[in-house]
Amino acid sequence: MIYFDNSATTKVASSVLEEMLPYLKEEYGNPSSKFYSLAVNAQNAVKLARKRLATLLGCDDDEIIFTSGATESNNMVIKGVANTYSEQGNHIITSQTEHPSVLETCQYLESKGWKVTYLGVDQFGRINIQDLENAIKKNKPILVSIIWGNNEVGSLNEIEKIASICREHQVFFHTDATQVCGKISINLKELPGIRFLSMSGHKIHGPKGVGVCFIRKQLANVKTKLTPLLHGGSQEDGYRSGTLAVHNIVGLGKAAELANENLDRNIEKLMFLEQKLTKILKDRFGDHIQLNHDNKKKIPGILSVRFVRKNNEVLIKKLAPYIALSTGSACSSGKPSHVLQAMGKSLEEIRQTVRISLSPENTLEELEIFNRL
Ligand code: PLP
Repeated sequence: MIYFDNSATTKVASSVLEEMLPYLKEEYGNPSSKFYSLAVNAQNAVKLARKRLATLLGCDDDEIIFTSGATESNNMVIKGVANTYSEQGNHIITSQTEHPSVLETCQYLESKGWKVTYLGVDQFGRINIQDLENAIKKNKPILVSIIWGNNEVGSLNEIEKIASICREHQVFFHTDATQVCGKISINLKELPGIRFLSMSGHKIHGPKGVGVCFIRKQLANVKTKLTPLLHGGSQEDGYRSGTLAVHNIVGLGKAAELANENLDRNIEKLMFLEQKLTKILKDRFGDHIQLNHDNKKKIPGILSVRFVRKNNEVLIKKLAPYIALSTGSACSSGKPSHVLQAMGKSLEEIRQTVRISLSPENTLEELEIFNRL
């Protein structure tokens, strides 16, 4: 089976699994316990993972909060800001091309009386900076939440500009960075406008069920207040209660280390594979394919391809015994993609679109086999 659905999830790297296993076997201590070696070993393992994540993101260790994944991180920030800062306003700005874990959280808040602006996007799925600034001036929001890199078409929003506008207007800015962490270079120290960021383990060859919520400190030692989703044992500085999933956190830490160490090599490989694949598709299908994604300013390895006059589900089912592909996001299977709709694509174009998402683990031989199918 050739796996070209790496935006949905990735295979756990073998060195990640190796580091996780002891924490499912002999090292089963609870990091919240004290004094005895099983507990201390678990604490040290979590500490190392936190350091590895902070290195990947370019932030301080104590700005890393472990969660169950990006869905939780997105919910935690959006509901948390809404709950904590409601006296300062009741407006949120986001975009039409967010992941459902942002969109549906915003819709939930709307049902509770919050006002939400969903910014439109251009033909490649990027918001317009001037539209954002106008919306901020008009609505005085308490939170802006804009996806960094899109999971269906790979387009990168201009996060540096968005972050600095939000900072200038003193608005909290959150970005869902699930598809970009470990795939492009990120240094949060150089982007002080980003107050919150979400990421997930299973998109970077780490385990499922673990992610990070980055919460920037206001001043050197002053934490940003955020009402937690989960109350209880005060783990993770009170931001996220619940016994830490040490094995998963260890796995995420190792995956972050691998992504960081191999970043340049991985980007180069993905760009090489993407160029080859684009050539293969163009040579074989000519005008019968169209690329929905932009070649510039995108996440390497994510392609959104329209196969003219082919139904995407029929095509994917036909190829399923040999190759894993998807119509778009794994979460919205069945429904026409809201991302492509926001980009102005017709229903017909959407039903002919396939997402191909590569990993540095993919090979040229796999592209050649794909070409022969
Ligand atoms: N945000 C984006 C952009 C995603 O692609 C995904 C996963 O598909 C998520 C959030 C949700 O991540 P998780 O599976 O860790 O909850």
